[in-house]
Amino acid sequence: MTDRFAPPATAGCRTAPVLKERGQHEVFCGLTGIIWLHRKMQDAFFLVVGSRTCAHLLQSAAGVMIFAEPRFATAILEETDLAGLADAQDELDRVASELLARRPDIRQLFLVGSCPSEVIKLDLAKAAERLSAAHAPNVRVLNYSGSGIETTFTQGEDACLAAMVPSLPEATAEELLIVGALPDVVEAQALDLLERIGVGPVRVLPAPRASDQFGVGPGTRIALVQPFLGDTLAALERRGACHIAAPLPFGEEGTTLWLKAIAAEFGIAPSVVDTVTEAPRARARKAVAQAADILRGKRIFLFPDSQLEIPLARFLTRECGMEAVEIGTPFLHRRIMAPELDLLAEGPVISEGQDVDKQLARLRAARPDLTVCGLGLANPLEAEGLTTKWAIELVFTPVHFYEQAGDLAGLFSRPLRRRDTLKVGPHDAALASS
Ligand code: SF4
Repeated sequence: MTDRFAPPATAGCRTAPVLKERGQHEVFCGLTGIIWLHRKMQDAFFLVVGSRTCAHLLQSAAGVMIFAEPRFATAILEETDLAGLADAQDELDRVASELLARRPDIRQLFLVGSCPSEVIKLDLAKAAERLSAAHAPNVRVLNYSGSGIETTFTQGEDACLAAMVPSLPEATAEELLIVGALPDVVEAQALDLLERIGVGPVRVLPAPRASDQFGVGPGTRIALVQPFLGDTLAALERRGACHIAAPLPFGEEGTTLWLKAIAAEFGIAPSVVDTVTEAPRARARKAVAQAADILRGKRIFLFPDSQLEIPLARFLTRECGMEAVEIGTPFLHRRIMAPELDLLAEGPVISEGQDVDKQLARLRAARPDLTVCGLGLANPLEAEGLTTKWAIELVFTPVHFYEQAGDLAGLFSRPLRRRDTLKVGPHDAALASS
């Protein structure tokens, strides 16, 4: 525990009751993850086997990004495929083979399942096996599902990383494996801190290139950097790797506890972490304090969306002085979340799953200062006078570790500042003074 952060006066939320909601999930689907995953894996290609809707989702999520060599595409299932009138497997082989012939730079090809491919039960595992055999050793073909049925958008990354685990070779060496896609600059900061603390060797999943191959086995210690990687964790544990339980590296406290948990696993004293991190901790503290001024004492309500809600609530309540009214999460992975829940003071409603009407009723009754929710809810809630923050921004913005702690707090303080500015904007001020 860092000196600045006392444990909560209460028992924390590890055993707090959880309100289970069983309605439909109203979130983006797992295809969204391709937008950040394709940037991390520089020789990978994501071929979505889906409909025109899937293609449109990817296109709009990717915004106006123009690539000389795009690294994702949609193989569109036509009506004849959906009606079973054409052999979709043959068609997929043809599309994939043409793609690989045109793009010799591709070393990993992900066949990404969608709602339509699941509805017609297109066996992408079989297709990946067949294509891998045809294109080995140059290309590894893997498959996972990004389907939106009963999933949320961060599960796409989990499914993708979990699909990579079985193909990792056996290893016995003692190594740290950081699991989760981070922006390159943030990943470099984490690796630098770990090196200075004396932890090594360190591997990262996903690796930037297929040739950056590493093994996994009983000597592998897993440090998650995202809370939504439960399936990947389970796949690694099946290979004998061990999870290092720790809060996630968000904010000064989370980052310090994450580093200390890893250091302890490698036999390094907490005082070494304190010494190495003194300067970045001070920078994080200063940056958070600047952004958090306006957050102190404000009430926040988090809809279930990104699966980051619990670690964010911990950061916002403990480092920014906010009060959490409700913390919704699409899925609660109790083992991964236990160190986070221990730090969270009792009080907020913790809900798992979605029932949007009931959640909206609770939100309107609570009238929080800030609501974190999906894009679909944000505009109507703003029209009702509630201040909102889009959950998806939290996944697209670099927010991990010390140097980003101020930006993380800033993501929440900005909507409140904007609200205040609009209340007493130049126009209103002119009217008031006239
Ligand atoms: S996978 Fe399903 S939810 Fe996602 S874009 Fe395609 S049809 Fe829509």
